[in-house]
Amino acid sequence: EYSAIGFIGLGAMGAPMVTHLANKIPQGISIHVFDVMQDVVDGLVKQFPDRIIAERNAKEVAEKSDIIFTMVPEGSHVRSVYLDTQSGICTTDINKKILIDCSTIDTATSLLVKDHITMNFPSAAFYDAPVSGGVLGAKKGTIAFFLGCADDDNNLPRIQNLLNMMGKQIIPCGGPSLGLAAKLSNNYLSGIIAIASSEAFDMGMRSGLDPRVLARVYAAGTAQNTICDKFCPVPGIAPEAPSTKGYKDGFKVQLMKKDFGLAVDMANRVNTKLVLGQAGLKTYEEASQDPRCRDLDSRVVYRYLEGDED
Ligand code: NAD
Repeated sequence: EYSAIGFIGLGAMGAPMVTHLANKIPQGISIHVFDVMQDVVDGLVKQFPDRIIAERNAKEVAEKSDIIFTMVPEGSHVRSVYLDTQSGICTTDINKKILIDCSTIDTATSLLVKDHITMNFPSAAFYDAPVSGGVLGAKKGTIAFFLGCADDDNNLPRIQNLLNMMGKQIIPCGGPSLGLAAKLSNNYLSGIIAIASSEAFDMGMRSGLDPRVLARVYAAGTAQNTICDKFCPVPGIAPEAPSTKGYKDGFKVQLMKKDFGLAVDMANRVNTKLVLGQAGLKTYEEASQDPRCRDLDSRVVYRYLEGDED
């Protein structure tokens, strides 16, 4: 059971996630929030004045909450939120509390934070719980959580209830940092499929094929995949795909570059040889810099690869 929830990091993902909690948690439970950007905090407090309470830093959020979520951009931010010696979560007694980091970061940083917590607060529990499904999924409440714990983890029943308010699927991945390993493997695969699909469409179209015919061929053939079906990199093929809406409202190409880079680093650490790793990383790095692609959905890699000339 819990009487107060904490949420730190109220950006593109965090804000809609906390909105679901505010709409769905039982009466009498408060949500304590913090973000370095004051305007996002103010916006949420205004929307839920009886439910969401702004705190001055991560430490205060942790003091007042039993279960604390963190959703910040990178490993350096996670380190600061948890380990900052002035106002980090670990400057207060977090024994018996549950901490759930939903950020997509490297496994080493996550394990470092977990080890620090285990050593200093033996009865606290820290989990990596990165998500998939994008900003749209966060708004709809359909994201998937990849949890760094075993199927029979003692805390699972307690947190499952809250995760279900924000998302649709919860997959326990086995143990600490394995949620992140799963997420990075997924994004590596998804990133490669987007590049390969873009190249395949381009070669087919330049050979004279209509892209709608190509989409039907892939769907009927052995190349069938979710990127082509739902997130088709070529505009105008999948009605709901970001590409069809000017590559807006998707998973930003800079985030794909970040996750792809984390995946390549992870592969190096575990001695996996990636034939496509460096080529993929270079592609996403260059697309992230390209003014025609920057800030747009990562499937804009099609526009980058296709170039300007016909
Ligand atoms: P964002 O930049 O929109 O939001 C991050 C928020 O964290 C910002 O509001 C920022 O002010 C805040 N923040 C940064 N440092 C902080 C600190 N020290 N203390 C308190 N708040 C701090 O990023 P986002 O898109 O919400 O992504 C968050 C994480 O989720 C990233 O790791 C990202 O890779 C992952 N993710 C994003 C998506 C997506 O589509 N955007 C999808 C899946 C996973």
